[in-house]
Amino acid sequence: MTFRLLRPTSLAEASTLLASDGGAAAAIAGGTDLLSEIRNGTAAPDTLVALDSIADGALHGISDTADGGRRIGALTTIADIAADAAIRTRYAALAQAAAGLATPQVRNLGTLGGNLNQRPRCWYYRHPLTVCLKRGGDRCYAVPGVGKYLCITGGDRCFIVHPSDTAVALAALGASVDIATAGGIRTVPIADYFTGPDVDLMRENILQPGELLTAVTLPPPSDGQRSIYLKARERESGDFALVSVAAALTLAGATVQQASIVLGGVAPIPYRAAATEAYLHNRRVSQISAEQAGAQAIPNPRPLPDNAYKAPMAANLVNRAVGTLLAAAPP
Ligand SMILES: Cc1cc2nc3c(=O)[nH]c(=O)nc-3n(C[C@H](O)[C@H](O)[C@H](O)COP(=O)(O)OP(=O)(O)OC[C@H]3O[C@@H](n4cnc5c(N)ncnc54)[C@H](O)[C@@H]3O)c2cc1C
Repeated sequence: MTFRLLRPTSLAEASTLLASDGGAAAAIAGGTDLLSEIRNGTAAPDTLVALDSIADGALHGISDTADGGRRIGALTTIADIAADAAIRTRYAALAQAAAGLATPQVRNLGTLGGNLNQRPRCWYYRHPLTVCLKRGGDRCYAVPGVGKYLCITGGDRCFIVHPSDTAVALAALGASVDIATAGGIRTVPIADYFTGPDVDLMRENILQPGELLTAVTLPPPSDGQRSIYLKARERESGDFALVSVAAALTLAGATVQQASIVLGGVAPIPYRAAATEAYLHNRRVSQISAEQAGAQAIPNPRPLPDNAYKAPMAANLVNRAVGTLLAAAPP
C-alpha cells in the first residue's frame, strides 16, 4: 500500500485537498483508526491529509463558551477530555465515556474528531477478505453469520452499531458539532450528524467530501443536571461497548424536569430511548421505578439470531443509570 501524506496549514487548504481528489483522499488525525483500516484493506486512500499541521485554533483545545458551555476542538485528544476538570464536574457522562474507552495509548493519540468519525467495527466489514455491502459487495455476511456484536434496532440490510462512546455521551448532553464547509462553518445538533444504513450504506454521517468536523460544543448544563455513562463490555480495557448508556437528568426539587437517555451498541447511530425519557419527564422521583424506566428503553427490538441478549442488557444499564442518578435526589 502506498499513499502520499500532505500537511496543509489551514482548514481551507485541507478542505480543498480533500474535495479535489474525487474521494480518494482521507483526513488523518491521530491515525489510530484510519491506519488500521489501511492495513486491513478496508480503506485505500491515495492521499492522507494530516490535520495536526493546521494551526487554526478552532481545531485545538477546550474552552468555555460565552454562555457557559464548553467547546472542544476536533484535535483534542480523548485523554485531554477525560482529564478536563470542567468536563468532569459539569458533563460527567462525557468524562466517564472518554476515560473508559480504548486503552491509554489510544486515548493519548486518538482525537475527538477521529473518535466521532471512526468507521464501524463489524468484523465482516473489517475483514481483509470479505467484501460486504458496506464495502460495495452484494450481501451482509452477518446474516446468517455471527451477529453477536451487531445492532438490535435500526438495521437496514447492514447491521452495524455505532462505535463511538463519546458520541453517545455527547448526544445525551445535547451537544452540537461545527462542520467546516466550502462556504464557512455550519453547526448541527449532534443528533442530526450520524446517519444509518437506511440513508446511505457507505457512510455513517452527513459529512460531504471536503468537509471536516472542527469542534463540538456542549450547552451550559441546566441547574440540577447530573449525568452518567455506563458501559457493558467483554474486557475491562481496550474493548468497545456491547451496550452503553448515557443518561442526563435535570431535577427541579423532587421532580424530573428533563431526561435525556441515549444508548450505544444497539443501533447504527446513537439511539435515543424516547419512551424512557417520556416516562421520566415531569415525574416525581418518588413515583419513578428505575426498573420500569429500563424496561422501556427499546420498545420493539429486532435482534439477530445471536444478539437478543442486548435488550435485557440495555434495560439493566438504563435501570442502573437512572437509579444511580436519582439515588441522591430529595424524596
Ligand atoms: C484497541 C482499540 C480499542 C478501541 N476501543 C474503543 C472504545 O472502546 N470506544 C470508542 O469509542 N473507540 C474505541 N476505539 C477507537 C478509537 O477511539 C479511535 O480509533 C480514535 O478515537 C480515532 O481517533 P484518531 O484521531 O486516531 O482518528 P483517525 O484514525 O486519524 O481517523 C479516524 C477517522 O475519522 C476521520 N477523521 C478524523 N478527524 C476528522 C475530522 N476532524 N473531521 C472529519 N473526519 C475526521 C478520518 O478520516 C478517519 O476516517 C478503539 C481503538 C482501538 C485501536
